[in-house]
Amino acid sequence: MCAIFGIAGQQEASNLTYLGLHALQHRGQEGSGIVSTDGKLPFVHKERGLVADIFTATNIAKLEGHSAIGHNRYSTAGGNTSENLQPVMMKSSLGWVGIAHNGNLVNANVLTQKLEREGSIFQSTADTEVILHLMAKSQEKDLINAIVHALKQVVGAYSLLILNHDYLVAIRDPQGIRPLVMGNLHGKPVFASESTAFDLIGANYEREINPGEMVVVSLKENFTVKCFRPFEKGALKRCVFEHVYFARPDSVVFSSTIYQTRKNLGKQLAKEHPPLDAELVIPVPDSGVYAAIGYSEFSKLPFEMGIIRSHYIGRTFIEPKQSIRDFGVKLKLNPIADIVRGKSIVVVDDSLVRGTTSKKLIQHLRNSGASKIHLRISAPPTAHSCFYGIDTPNKTELLASSHSVDSIRDFIGADSLGYLSLNGLLQVASEVSGAGFCHGCFSGEYPTPITTIV
Ligand code: AMP
Repeated sequence: MCAIFGIAGQQEASNLTYLGLHALQHRGQEGSGIVSTDGKLPFVHKERGLVADIFTATNIAKLEGHSAIGHNRYSTAGGNTSENLQPVMMKSSLGWVGIAHNGNLVNANVLTQKLEREGSIFQSTADTEVILHLMAKSQEKDLINAIVHALKQVVGAYSLLILNHDYLVAIRDPQGIRPLVMGNLHGKPVFASESTAFDLIGANYEREINPGEMVVVSLKENFTVKCFRPFEKGALKRCVFEHVYFARPDSVVFSSTIYQTRKNLGKQLAKEHPPLDAELVIPVPDSGVYAAIGYSEFSKLPFEMGIIRSHYIGRTFIEPKQSIRDFGVKLKLNPIADIVRGKSIVVVDDSLVRGTTSKKLIQHLRNSGASKIHLRISAPPTAHSCFYGIDTPNKTELLASSHSVDSIRDFIGADSLGYLSLNGLLQVASEVSGAGFCHGCFSGEYPTPITTIV
């Protein structure tokens, strides 16, 4: 998963892009980049690491100009290497072009092989570069026509921001798989994966970019905005996992506030899987908190933050030589023994992927004295890989791909286990955002044919 942010017609375009990327850090933590322009040259900075560490006052000052696009990377296609950081840059007969992409193309391998046979030389292993090669080969002289020519050949998920010396272009794929929203700051356009980025910089949220829509900002004509529909309309297939886990709870995504949606998922979960003999509802922080509030409201059981999460975990930590049992999970999640001791509890999390967190956490809760543990998951079993930009592991590593709910319950050691049904999830998501979701990770029904397994 990744984040994209773009802004045009602002004196401090790069600084505002840096702030926007900071607000979207949850969507990608491997590395970030910004390309800005003064309407003539591009200015680029990309590095691995977190936004706050990468962009110092010195290197933001070098990113000159009134317009910029930025990207946070979370690798799903291509590895975690510096060549794969975005925005990806190209120079061709179209001049220089920078592109920032959220989503995965599912025919990227096929297109890459074809392009390489025809002489293209790729700089990275990221699927995004395919779009630039297709644009460069299009023989179109105009950037907008070249983009349309390229995108008509790709299949999959793409929310894109593209910048050159003339235009900032925002595009969402015809099925609207990944989010992309538009706002304005002092009357000039701003784009982001999620609206929370607008809150930080004081921009106003306007609307979603429509599936299949292309919004073109002219940098040479006072940043005026024109909207086009160059692609055939597809069936709406927005990623339902954005509602479940991915988006920030303070964001408006798919026209609804994620916080409220997650609370409603928790209520539906309580309806489908009541708490049995439990006395308390406890979330797995942070992502399980909102569904747990809904679960507690519906079941009329008290809510307690009985597990505390450490927010200071770096990429590497030094474990003492004398090894500590379940060190990894203890480092991140610690039960409060006084809250759980002697209690039958409902523990609410948003998803169960490999089952490693839940298994260790349940053991840890038992060691802290919980008498019974009823695990409730505010999504259906994650049984299938995602090919559209969420970093789900290989299908073989997904516990639910090969185990029944009963055997998962036994594996993780819970007294009972209840998942939200797919119908329940889609009902809640459709109530707030209207119908039309991709639920491939839960159902195995994908929105497009898949010719590339990435
Ligand atoms: P696991 O231990 O593999 O079962 O992971 C479950 C935890 O991972 C849950 O608490 C989720 O909140 C979290 N999670 C689910 N999907 C993702 C994802 N794509 N990237 C990172 N964390 C995730």
